[in-house]
Amino acid sequence: STGGLPARLGETVAAAHRRYAGLDEGVVADYIPILAEADPAHFGLVVAQVDGAVHRAGDAGVAFSIQSISKAFVFALVCEAIGHEAVHEIVGVNNTGLPFNSVMAIELNGGSPMNPMVNAGAIATTALVPAATPAEQWELVRTGLSRFAGRELALDGEVYRSEVLTNQRNQAIGRLLQSYGRLDADPLAVVDVYTKQCALSVTAEDLAVMGATLADGGVNPVTGERVVSAEVCRDTLALLASCGMYERSGEWLFEIGLPAKSGVAGGIVAVAPGKGAVGAYSPRLDPAGNSVRGQRACAYLSRALGLNLFAST
Ligand code: GLN
Repeated sequence: STGGLPARLGETVAAAHRRYAGLDEGVVADYIPILAEADPAHFGLVVAQVDGAVHRAGDAGVAFSIQSISKAFVFALVCEAIGHEAVHEIVGVNNTGLPFNSVMAIELNGGSPMNPMVNAGAIATTALVPAATPAEQWELVRTGLSRFAGRELALDGEVYRSEVLTNQRNQAIGRLLQSYGRLDADPLAVVDVYTKQCALSVTAEDLAVMGATLADGGVNPVTGERVVSAEVCRDTLALLASCGMYERSGEWLFEIGLPAKSGVAGGIVAVAPGKGAVGAYSPRLDPAGNSVRGQRACAYLSRALGLNLFAST
């Protein structure tokens, strides 16, 4: 089945792409120096359905670093491995209302990493990846995210090196969590794995397939492989709804009505449970760090395809 999506979906994806391709609002992230070199004209938009159909528009195959979008999928893998109660208790599930790399959010909440979709919670989540060494943790993360994408994902070494040189804030977050007894691992080693996971190279098409795997109850609709359980998908999507778009998560849910996750390289994945997912890439960001064209295109597709989870008609 098409999961209840209209038959002429490809035309709608192309129309969304055309409509926002000329939109030049927002600025490319530069706090990680290499990200500033991204071509602001790039715009890829892809919808992947739970029946395995994929609809592409624009720069669907252009590679960029996954950044914070990795948080959603690492959370899912950790939940699958150790159960959602443990992650709930150790990391938390409430929105911070503050920027993704906020130290104050930790301080205001007694040392809690708050939720897996901000840096502190993502670092705490990565620390829970069950492996004997950081190198093995990284391999589990890389191969796990590759199964979501349905192809072998690789590190973008240039992004990784650029981020390593400018990663003092995340290292401080790791140390702060350790000082509160919230990190049962070497903070710098965990932050290094986290930095690598953010530097995984993906395309808009990868994001769409990864999201469609969450939409499909954990089975990758292109490869047919089960990656995580349906329960883990449910838990991950709940977190994306409340925390996936940082401090703009409320506005996003109000406008678009879909669980989603963004990253500072300009990627967005938005998931329509039981139907499919949108993968978008465009590097110009709003002040919260969310791709401007990506957000507009997702809003358009949500309206045009009737994806808003809260709409009864
Ligand atoms: N690697 C980036 C960081 O830790 C990810 C942030 C993001 O995409 N919002 O700062």
